[in-house]
Amino acid sequence: MINLFSNIVAVVAVSAVGVFADLKNKTDYPDGLSGPFTPGLNNYTEAPLEWFTPWGAGWIPKGCKDRFIGKGYDADDAEVFNIKYTDCDQAWTFCRHKDAQLSLKDMADSFGRMSVHMRSLVRHPIALPASSGCSALAYTDIGDVVMLGNCKGLTVWLHETGHQLDARLKPSNRFSGTTPWLEALERDTCVPDSYANTNTVEDFAQVVVVAQHETLLGYKPEEAFPGCLDQRQSLLERTFQSDYLEYVGRCSNRPRDFEIVSTKTTKREKMKMMKRAKAQEGNDPNVVGPCSFP
Ligand SMILES: [Zn+2]
Repeated sequence: MINLFSNIVAVVAVSAVGVFADLKNKTDYPDGLSGPFTPGLNNYTEAPLEWFTPWGAGWIPKGCKDRFIGKGYDADDAEVFNIKYTDCDQAWTFCRHKDAQLSLKDMADSFGRMSVHMRSLVRHPIALPASSGCSALAYTDIGDVVMLGNCKGLTVWLHETGHQLDARLKPSNRFSGTTPWLEALERDTCVPDSYANTNTVEDFAQVVVVAQHETLLGYKPEEAFPGCLDQRQSLLERTFQSDYLEYVGRCSNRPRDFEIVSTKTTKREKMKMMKRAKAQEGNDPNVVGPCSFP
């Protein structure tokens, strides 16, 4: 037992420096979570959209501007919208690049299908273009999620918001790094899918998707190895279900919106911001991803 636990700790340490090592050699959903989980999640959720309002040209939340420029885009190409849902008094500000594969409607719908408490973990949903597929990033110290490409699937939104749930704005205290979680991982015999094998942080976010499905529908899609991740799932549900996964209540404890800045950027500022983003990528433990899924 003790040896196994040391192995898990070693795997976590290795993963933190970017070398992939499998946590488990069994996957409960060998083809990924999207196929088995999306139909149930879509059937049992709808976005309680109340209204949306576009911002005037020229202004953007600073966090969105940082992400746009950091990824090489022009902040003038951002479409900024306030989107209000019926279950929260305060609207969310979304930022979408004009060429992003996700439409504003896609973003409002996928985000809105999550429980209001999961949504409340997120500050700004951001969509940028990608040449193919979907990958995503979670900025877990500030609450932003960035979707790159065609990321309509609710499993992707739940996964990224799962990273925010893990950190709750304090990435150094991630739940996926705590002893109870690592012990539950030791007792379990599988990971949800191959992507979860990346490291404990990605594994936690995929277990969030599983736990969300079970909370909402009362069961999970047929497993390849029944019960093989129950220790983590039940710990996650005991800890977070009533406050985050249940589809009741109203929003609370939302991260504060970023300051509003001009979309105009001098060349010099742009170079500086791109340099900073490049240094951050792959080195900043607060930034999780890019996550991409089978
Ligand atoms: Zn991830």
